[in-house]
Amino acid sequence: MQGMKALEEKGALKFIKGGTLIDGKGGRPVKDPVVVMQGRRIKKVGTQDKIKIPRDAQVIDAARYTLMPGMMDLHIHTSMFNCVTFHNHRVAQFEIMPHLQQMYALFHAQLCFDMGFTTLRDLGMNSNRGLLTNELCAVRDAIDAGIMEGPRMLIGGFTTITGSHLDLIQPRAMPRHGFNTADGPWELRKLARTNLLAGCDVIKTCASGGGGTDKEEPDIRNMTQEELDAIVDEAHAFHKSASVHCFTTQAQRMALKAGADTIEHMVFHDDETIDLIAEAGIPVTPTLSHRTDHAIQLRREHGTAEFVLRKMKYLQPFCFETFQKMYKAGVRIAMGTDMGFEPDMGSNAGELEIYVKLGMKPMDAILTATGNAARAIKLGGDLGTIEGGKLADIIAVDGDPLKDIACLQKKQNIKLVMKEGRIYADRRPGRNKNVVNATSGDWKIIDYL
Ligand SMILES: [Zn+2]
Repeated sequence: MQGMKALEEKGALKFIKGGTLIDGKGGRPVKDPVVVMQGRRIKKVGTQDKIKIPRDAQVIDAARYTLMPGMMDLHIHTSMFNCVTFHNHRVAQFEIMPHLQQMYALFHAQLCFDMGFTTLRDLGMNSNRGLLTNELCAVRDAIDAGIMEGPRMLIGGFTTITGSHLDLIQPRAMPRHGFNTADGPWELRKLARTNLLAGCDVIKTCASGGGGTDKEEPDIRNMTQEELDAIVDEAHAFHKSASVHCFTTQAQRMALKAGADTIEHMVFHDDETIDLIAEAGIPVTPTLSHRTDHAIQLRREHGTAEFVLRKMKYLQPFCFETFQKMYKAGVRIAMGTDMGFEPDMGSNAGELEIYVKLGMKPMDAILTATGNAARAIKLGGDLGTIEGGKLADIIAVDGDPLKDIACLQKKQNIKLVMKEGRIYADRRPGRNKNVVNATSGDWKIIDYL
């Protein structure tokens, strides 16, 4: 590690000039910022009148744009089929091999990266050939090795009981393949260890039923306290974290008791449980993008059963109200979309617009995807803010997201995407460097081919 650090510190200084800086710490935006970088890291941050740039230095001119930390989506499923590439996703689950799902994972990760998301926490997936933990870890590792361009990824491994919400992502009658689910603390420990052996960063489980699956009520308890305790303990034993899907207050309290690292969704609430979560400081990812009418409509168009659509619509107001209560109570909110089928990969920043529409201050919304997100996944020492010592994950945005949070959703506004000091997308005038050149609509409907 010593040698790595020395290597990192070598290399010429690089400078990036911005119009405004939103540093991810929540303070007032800074005018005319200069960020000094060396190798993969930020060396220091100042303003154009204070920092002297040598004449022969490499300068990245983003003086017309807002600089901010690369964004993070902490709840995504990149290997889910794309909502516009299938006529009917239920049928697709019988037609498509995990190898293609893995291709989707890479492609979706790159789409998000192109839109300024430099870190994704993918909370896992299954397939008709078993869990996709190996496949997702391979996508992460291929990106880290520099074989393919993409965001930094953290991978979740499904660790749930038979018939759990995550098991029911697969059609009920589909034969299960391999060691997909487990029951009882010891079997679940083994499933967790199997996922950890595959290299996952996060153990993903569910303590209650959920929304987007067939014939399943959200208030079903998905495991016992003893089982959840075992899973979380196992994740922690391997120095990894545990993320728990919770729709009900019963599930939320179980997650608190087990010592979960993040709570996913929330959905239902009572005030006392919200206060307990705020006090414990456990981050929550609200995942509101797929609760909107737009998302429900997309589901309708690709063959989701009426029962599920009704359930999604029923859950919608609870999700929005719970979000508002959490924000007021000071719960640590970290941005997560749960994007998979819908609404549409790459439009992740739409989640922030929903937060703002529900009453969150735009600066707080930006923090959910930057500084707060990094701390939620325990990477706050390296990521989430633009300051000396951090990895240089920086984006340049044409527009002021504090005035118009929706500006983060348009690709032409995301002028630069830099990860660890290297530029991957550059859409400044006269340049046209993209991570991927596809736009939604280019895709063919696979089950029509
Ligand atoms: Zn999810």
